[in-house]
Amino acid sequence: MNSILKNDLNNLSTILDRTKQQGIDFLNNLENVPTSTKNSIDPTRELNELGLGSLAALEEFNERLAPLLVSSPGPRYWGFVTGGSTPASIVGDWLATVYDQNTQAIKAQGGVSALIEFETIHLLLQLLQLPDTFLGGFVTGATMSNFTCLGVARQWFGKQFGKDFAKNGISESINILTATPHSSSIKSLAMLGIGSNNYTTLKTIEGNREAIDIADLEKNIQNLNGKPFILISSAGTVNTADFDDFEAISRLKEKYNFWWHIDAAFGGFAAVSEKFKHFVEGWEGADSITIDCHKWLNVPYESAFYLIKKEHTSLQIETFQNSNAPYLGNPLENFNYLNVLPENSRRLRALPVWFSLLAYGKEGFCDIVENSAAMALHFGNELIEDGNFELLAPIRLNNVCFTLKGNHNQEKVSAFLTLLNDKGKVFMTPTVYQNRKGIRASFVNWRTTEKDIRIVMDEMKETILDLEI
Ligand SMILES: *Cc1c(COP(=O)(O)O)cnc(C)c1O
Repeated sequence: MNSILKNDLNNLSTILDRTKQQGIDFLNNLENVPTSTKNSIDPTRELNELGLGSLAALEEFNERLAPLLVSSPGPRYWGFVTGGSTPASIVGDWLATVYDQNTQAIKAQGGVSALIEFETIHLLLQLLQLPDTFLGGFVTGATMSNFTCLGVARQWFGKQFGKDFAKNGISESINILTATPHSSSIKSLAMLGIGSNNYTTLKTIEGNREAIDIADLEKNIQNLNGKPFILISSAGTVNTADFDDFEAISRLKEKYNFWWHIDAAFGGFAAVSEKFKHFVEGWEGADSITIDCHKWLNVPYESAFYLIKKEHTSLQIETFQNSNAPYLGNPLENFNYLNVLPENSRRLRALPVWFSLLAYGKEGFCDIVENSAAMALHFGNELIEDGNFELLAPIRLNNVCFTLKGNHNQEKVSAFLTLLNDKGKVFMTPTVYQNRKGIRASFVNWRTTEKDIRIVMDEMKETILDLEI
């Protein structure tokens, strides 16, 4: 064994102790870590001939890199839809690394990691009050989950014409209907060879809504003259957290032949709260659902899962199977994750979620969701009270979409947000909503409190003065 590696092995306990202490220091100081940084690195470091060993590498990391890392798991990182990491999720994540399983078959010799993943999906279905008619698995993010689900939808579409697109390529034009898809679904259409231009945009409900206008959906269906199609619907759009009407879509599903996909990356967690579960009423009728865990479940990146109805498992295997041999017998019997999703080798990605669900239970996640929604409302009220801002859309759940008050301030929105973000106390993302430039704050982090809102409002007032708005 290489002498540096050997030395590291002998020092394992010191190395991991230092690492643990560093993690504690970062997490305990998270509120003071800036949300942005102006400094940067020159990424041209030469690789050393002789290794430094872990402790010296840790020292260099501390000196050069750690001070530049932002508090993205912190309570005031409201850009994108960024969750944090709860203690239990960190335990699971660390142990997934330490145990380093390759999560594949449920009957593998010497490992039950795939069964741990099954168990975790079973726990998630209970949390979300979904039936066991779905088969689920973990992927890196909602983008890959949308890709996986839409990949199986593509195979289903071919089957309606007696064709196997996975084997022979796409030979029919695929009809896709959607109203306000997340960009990652469109990216998935590109990756799947369907084409990112090849979808029909449905009308949204009149007024300040991003949800599908069901009458327009039905009109588009009728224009297809009985041809099959794929519907991409939303449980939580990123700008305004709007939801499609899943009960109405369920009724259409009884009349027409289509694959129904729901992107519920963060909005799916509405299901854990009595207050908000009406948003997802009827979603169990979908053929596939995408959900992120590194957002509202507050586990570290990279964690998401897909749910695909068990009745479609053979289509799923046709889409992703890793061998040319035709599948024999019951596909569930010799189940192996590498035959149902994009990756072959894969970590025990379920473990941080497993730990989180056991540690905090239904109530813990209900509290996180309801607190996020309360923080969004509180922030919205503060914005209105301040007088310099206006909401672009009502606050339905956890996202606040707003702008500087008055059309004359439209050209100042981007300078305002840049200056505010540069101050490092809060991070929010720019957006465009109904042709107006705006700012989006998304609340999903378990640590956010009213104190954070006060800090941010003070920073915003100061920025208004700085820019003489
Ligand atoms: C975040 C998000 C995605 C993409 O998720 P990643 O985890 O970044 O891949 C897809 N859809 C919706 C609705 C999202 O909010």
